[in-house]
Amino acid sequence: MSIKKILTAIICNLSLVVAVQAEPTMTVSIAKTDSAAAVSDETKANTIEAINTVVDFFNEYFYLEESIELLVGAEDGPLYNGDGQIQLPYSFVEEIEQRFTQAEYQKTGVSVAQAVADSLKHTLIHEFAHAVIHSANIPVLGREEDAADSLASVLLIEYFEDGSEIVISAADLFELEGEDSDVVTAEDFWGEHSLNPQRYYAAMCHVYGSDPQEYADIPKRLEFSEDRAELCIQEYEDLSYSWQKLLQPILKAQ
Ligand SMILES: [Zn+2]
Repeated sequence: MSIKKILTAIICNLSLVVAVQAEPTMTVSIAKTDSAAAVSDETKANTIEAINTVVDFFNEYFYLEESIELLVGAEDGPLYNGDGQIQLPYSFVEEIEQRFTQAEYQKTGVSVAQAVADSLKHTLIHEFAHAVIHSANIPVLGREEDAADSLASVLLIEYFEDGSEIVISAADLFELEGEDSDVVTAEDFWGEHSLNPQRYYAAMCHVYGSDPQEYADIPKRLEFSEDRAELCIQEYEDLSYSWQKLLQPILKAQ
């Protein structure tokens, strides 16, 4: 083999290595900040577990168009900054721990730390939805915030063990957040998100719709009409089908 051929082979192999290494992934960074999350050790441990689980899930199941950095301990958020970064501030973890603690959430049989972790998983997948919608040019009909909520619920239900239970904790957080305001203002109507009670009912409707036998108590407990309960089943089927179809190009075959 000539020197030229050997060199070409080496360069080709090198560029292959570079190409493999350059595959976009989701990574976690910790912000350089003096503050830390002022939460219980159990919540802290559950938060770390939630972050790792979600990041591993994305890297295992998705081909990303561009790398996504999850910045933990950010100033603002939770949000997707439109430029490859999801930001999660410690204050958000503190806030949701406080809400679940005040609501004595452990009485539901789910600990506060577990509920915080569940809500974080839903939130992180919601932000991931914004990221892939933009980087993979996924079409969105209707409000992107509703689409991000529904993607979080569908992925949790379809791919995570006890995913429906995770969605229920996240839905309960929407309900607790909704208790902040008795009066609905114009701002609530022109805001980009659906109202907290709507986000709560939508998530619960999708849990029920995904498995009407297992969650037969939901329509009764939430006082859905029979027609609405029936529609939840169709709605979940449509959402699940639509998301799996839209995500097909970036979903790794399992
Ligand atoms: Zn959002």
